[in-house]
Amino acid sequence: MKVTVIGTGYVGLVTGTCLAETGNTVACVDTDARKIEMLKQGIVPIYEPGLKEYLDRNVAAGRLSFTTDLYSVMDDSDVLMIAVGTPPGEDGSADLRYVLQVAEQIGKNLKSYKVIVNKSTVPIGSGDLVRDTIAKHTKQEFDVVSNPEFLKEGDAVSDFMKPDRIVIGVSSKRAEDIMKHLYAPFHRTGYRVVSMDVRSAEMTKYAANAMLATKITFMNEIANLCEACGADINNVRFGIGSDKRIGPHFLFAGIGYGGSCFPKDVSALIRIGRQYDNELQILNAVDAVNVKQRTRLVDKVVKRFGEDLTGKKFGIWGLSFKPRTDDMREAPSIYTIEMLHERGAKLCVYDPQAMENARPIFGDKAHFHEDYYTLLKDADALLICTEWQEFREPDFARVKSLLKQPIIFDGRNLFEPDHMRELGFEYHCIGRH
Ligand code: NAD
Repeated sequence: MKVTVIGTGYVGLVTGTCLAETGNTVACVDTDARKIEMLKQGIVPIYEPGLKEYLDRNVAAGRLSFTTDLYSVMDDSDVLMIAVGTPPGEDGSADLRYVLQVAEQIGKNLKSYKVIVNKSTVPIGSGDLVRDTIAKHTKQEFDVVSNPEFLKEGDAVSDFMKPDRIVIGVSSKRAEDIMKHLYAPFHRTGYRVVSMDVRSAEMTKYAANAMLATKITFMNEIANLCEACGADINNVRFGIGSDKRIGPHFLFAGIGYGGSCFPKDVSALIRIGRQYDNELQILNAVDAVNVKQRTRLVDKVVKRFGEDLTGKKFGIWGLSFKPRTDDMREAPSIYTIEMLHERGAKLCVYDPQAMENARPIFGDKAHFHEDYYTLLKDADALLICTEWQEFREPDFARVKSLLKQPIIFDGRNLFEPDHMRELGFEYHCIGRH
């Protein structure tokens, strides 16, 4: 098939590349000329493990191309996929500006039947808005499909190639058949397409993210209580995760969820609830608890060193919102660093992939280091904000010799508290003693 993917970010680029991998001819479109120029030169503008190899192979095979000019490619496509951002508006609801801009552009240039697929995460009813926006500008036949994306940054390629499920929200058999055909190569080992109406598909995406955010938040609340009453969240995690009804995934306590999806999707779903006079009380609580959890590590630092941190230096390992990505959107490290800086602390930071994206966020509030040991020299403590693999087995003797005092605040529970004590560290973590 011939596919145009509009919006070449984390979702669009992975979608386009993986659809090319299965033999389709894909054009990826973006208004960001710098991004398209980089891609044309074979430079992947985001860090996503495995993506470069797929991209190079498909560009070389002539199946994958990049352009800023939607009109030069859309005519020739059977399917147009919208994968632009839907960032939070001022009141927390999803901003549909970019999606509707694309819809208008499509409407103005639609010359033959196409399936227009919405991959962006959008409020329930957006499919109708997209359809109406396109229909204002054309008399051509077309279908609008909702096909929410469930990939995880850091594992995006394998998630796309081997999805748990592919949700398609359709209102015509013609569009359903085209979507099933497009996704046929992705479910060879089991049928994975879940077909439903458009509104249910739109809701499925929000419900999935809201459920995952709730799971994390629930564990964070239990972890905080564990700290207060002398229990260990790690033991509790194994204890409840072995129950098949609960499952072992997404039960890790930490310093709150972040990223480009959970915070904005929880807020957007809360706003959708209000719009229908249907207050989502669980999600209100999830949002409030998460906001508080983001300050958990700073609270511990303040408890240990006092409110005024002038003259104190802290080394920080990990900036991205989670490992295996360079994405800094809503990263808990942002809140940690802002609050420590406000209290006068000097912050020396390192991240394996996110430093370029982090620099404009922190400016001179943080000192960026290329080596995660040397930044610890004469620091009052080490803080861990992201659980990158390389932090899991550090040279503790070296860490200890560099720090002014052997103190670690670990927001991701990387180490065993007993072992850390044996090594002579004062170790503060989440929900453990
Ligand atoms: P992103 O910000 O990385 O990429 C969006 C891209 O769209 C940008 O490159 C931007 O320049 C481009 N764009 C904006 N307007 C455009 C236009 N009119 N024409 C062409 N390109 C345009 O965003 P993302 O993280 O890929 O997310 C995209 C959507 O997918 C969002 O709705 C998001 O909620 C959803 N989603 C994201 C993830 C994720 O892990 N990032 C996972 C699932 C779903």
